[in-house]
Amino acid sequence: MNSIRADFPILSRQFRDQEIVYLDSAATTQKPQVVIDAISHYYEHYNSNVHRAAHVMAGEATEAFEGSRAAIGRWINSELSSEIVFTRGTTEGINLVAQVLGDANKLRAGDEIVITEMEHHSNIVPWQMLAQRTGATLRGIKVKLSGELDLDDAAEVINERTRILAFGHVSNALGTVNPVEDLLAMAAHYGAITVIDGAQAALHQMVDVQALGCDFYCFSGHKMFGPTGIGILYGKQVLLEELPPWQGGGEMIERVTLQASTYQKPPYKFEAGTPNIAGAIGLGAAVAYIESLELASLNAAEDALVKKTISGLKQIPGIQLVGEPANRSSVVSFIVDAAHPHDVGTLLDQQGVAVRTGHHCTMPLMDALDVPGTVRASFSLYSNDDDVTRLLDGVQKALTFL
Ligand SMILES: *Cc1c(COP(=O)(O)O)cnc(C)c1O
Repeated sequence: MNSIRADFPILSRQFRDQEIVYLDSAATTQKPQVVIDAISHYYEHYNSNVHRAAHVMAGEATEAFEGSRAAIGRWINSELSSEIVFTRGTTEGINLVAQVLGDANKLRAGDEIVITEMEHHSNIVPWQMLAQRTGATLRGIKVKLSGELDLDDAAEVINERTRILAFGHVSNALGTVNPVEDLLAMAAHYGAITVIDGAQAALHQMVDVQALGCDFYCFSGHKMFGPTGIGILYGKQVLLEELPPWQGGGEMIERVTLQASTYQKPPYKFEAGTPNIAGAIGLGAAVAYIESLELASLNAAEDALVKKTISGLKQIPGIQLVGEPANRSSVVSFIVDAAHPHDVGTLLDQQGVAVRTGHHCTMPLMDALDVPGTVRASFSLYSNDDDVTRLLDGVQKALTFL
């Protein structure tokens, strides 16, 4: 909280003589100076392409790039660093998996792909496209008004026709922490392939992919203090070996003739073209930074802020919380009886309080909960008491204009 704020230069940015209150960390987190420096240092001192030329700087770039991969693998406890594929982000990771599962003929007409009603669009649309390509059916596990998954419904929807189960670890719209182990056990019972969207979880839950036992786990660097344009797809080695490549090009091949090519081993098989080298190095720096923090106490302090926000909002007449999951992380969504979420967002913005309003890329969830959208305050490890006070004051003041 206050101890780590000095690491994030942007947090001292002023707006009308006050610090900006940044409560939009679920959209993207701010970056600590060490991440910004790691990226500049690469461009200033050893900018080169990786894996290719035989010169000093290329060697350093390759070492830093592969060092990041290994560090990220250790951080999520993958068995092998070759199970860590660099992507542009969560969206690209899910698209990659959906595409190659289709190419590998893992689905036929009549098979079912199961997701949930609370998924981010990036964990819906790629599966719709795969269903359309293969004749498979896409089904969604229902969400209760509490913002939690209906596990009775899950037990029916997940069945012997389920080939793929894809779901979010933590909801970006409501903050719900899903019962990952229960869902994975249901999928395992039917031998379904499991894909977890960990975009909101990577920073807040310590992810241990071996303990989870999922087949694929995707996340984005920019939601865990790293840069945009870089993300991770974790995949079990046996699957990465078995599945066909995604994009073709340089880096992913072993030998090419005009007629045919042989491919590299994972992860390179899935990394065609020059990768986002600076992004990977920046993400490695973000992981090192996170490892240097007292995560347990920071997470506890963040939980306290979330609770304080919830109880503060409950005391304001005319405010309704959207979703009250028992197990919640970092996000509070609400609506104001008298106003559209966008208007509330604008009134907060005028007071220097940054929140997100709208459907949060979860239109089916908004439909299921029967709301047009929400105002979402989302926290991170650098959020503090002042952020909560200014949010609550800001909402009170906004109400006087509505
Ligand atoms: C942000 C987010 C995504 C998409 O991540 P990108 O970085 O935009 O690819 C997917 N799922 C959830 C839950 C998210 O919060």
